[in-house]
Amino acid sequence: MPRRRTHPVQSAILLLLTAAIFAVDAFTRLDTAIAVMYVVVLLLASPVWPRRYTLALGAGCVLLTMGAYVVAHGLRVVPSSAGRALVSIAAIAIATWLVIQRRQATDRLRQREQALRRSQAFLAGAQRLTRTGSFGIRVPDGTMVWSEEAARIFGYPGDAVPDMDRVLAHTLPEDRPLVTAALRRTMACEGHIDVAHRLLLPDGTIRHVHVLAEASYDADGRCEYLGAVTDITARVEAEQQLHASHVQLAHAARVSMLGELAASVAHEVNQPLTAIVANAQAGRRWLTRAEPDIGEAQAALDGIVQASERAGQVIRRIRALARRTEPEHVALDLNALVQDTVELLQRELDRRPLALRIDLAPGLPPVMGDRIELQQVLINLVMNALQAMDGLSNNRLELRTRQDDGMVLVSVRDSGPGIADADGARLFEPFFSTKADGMGLGLPICRSIISRHGGRIAARSTPPGSTFSFELPIHEKAPVHEQQSDALP
Ligand code: ADP
Repeated sequence: MPRRRTHPVQSAILLLLTAAIFAVDAFTRLDTAIAVMYVVVLLLASPVWPRRYTLALGAGCVLLTMGAYVVAHGLRVVPSSAGRALVSIAAIAIATWLVIQRRQATDRLRQREQALRRSQAFLAGAQRLTRTGSFGIRVPDGTMVWSEEAARIFGYPGDAVPDMDRVLAHTLPEDRPLVTAALRRTMACEGHIDVAHRLLLPDGTIRHVHVLAEASYDADGRCEYLGAVTDITARVEAEQQLHASHVQLAHAARVSMLGELAASVAHEVNQPLTAIVANAQAGRRWLTRAEPDIGEAQAALDGIVQASERAGQVIRRIRALARRTEPEHVALDLNALVQDTVELLQRELDRRPLALRIDLAPGLPPVMGDRIELQQVLINLVMNALQAMDGLSNNRLELRTRQDDGMVLVSVRDSGPGIADADGARLFEPFFSTKADGMGLGLPICRSIISRHGGRIAARSTPPGSTFSFELPIHEKAPVHEQQSDALP
């Protein structure tokens, strides 16, 4: 407890007053209990002096009362004066006791007030540090209280009067329906509130907040929401940056993969070009004959148109892989994606002696995903399988799709050397590679793409060889988005 100041001027006045009362009591012959006035001195001293001084003052006043009696009457008993002195002593004793009691109560109150203030300061400090404010909403009138930090998070000064219209006024317009729905549930006292939304502050800053609130009932059974609002802007921005760097990394890997597939790419483009040249030559022959055959020439021209369209599709597909765009999630048919990927890798597959089996589950439901990223995963797994089998004989590659327990599964099985026990746990670690020129980034990128799609990727030894598979949640309801290569921009 902090020391009290002794207040020298007030103390001097009190001592003078005490002396004056003593003088009047001892040296005048008034017929009243002057000594009762010591009670006034005690009352005046109590807020100024510490408790033990007040106690000493009480004792002193009793002694002075007795002293004044002795001065006035010696040791004789004068009944009226002795009675007044006794009444005064009793009054002084009672007043001292009351004053000390009051003082103790005041001290206790002050201590509690200080403890409360300290814990409020701790709470405010903790709220500032954790960027979490607290609030309460009474139902049904909607009156609100909020902590200083909650006011700051919602974009208002700490002493602003809280109300729900203010919260809505600073909510990003797109997120208002979300917040209004949560408020409506609050007003209906409908359980737990858990909503993340954005605020648009007057200076144009966007702030991300997470609001959690729980209903509780007071003694009268009235519903009240107690909640916390956390400023999660830093976390959301970090997540966005992480997402952006994942997307950039995946793009860089795709571009470098396209470099590795240059032969396949050139082959894919060459095929329709060869058809165009062949059709053009045939057309010219049909037209330069002694008797031109218009019908055959037209058929050759149709062939040119078809081959040109095919070339356009191929180029669009390759460009889409090379382009850097934000992933765009649409409903996809993974069977079509497998077929498309096999077509793109045809040259790589043809280059090797290999038995290829494609086992696609009929009527496969769609998944939600970015076509380019998922194709990148599949290309990666197939290329890894092909590389694992390089130099081996009796090679077999199997691509399978299956539906299982709310998921669509795609697996790539090869007949390569399999996965060494020691490597199993490290395959998806960045920079783990057993290849002389390997970067060890393919599988970690595949894993990050699949987990961003809410799926899982796994590898296991399936002697002879290994199986790499990924699964994605089925996307119910949505129709399958057009996903053949000609649907690409
Ligand atoms: P990189 O191809 O650059 O090595 P990846 O992340 O794609 O990087 O692969 C990491 C490692 O995983 C490979 O070096 C290889 O040891 C192992 N691996 C990948 N696919 C297979 C497979 N089909 N069979 C056996 N091992 C594989």
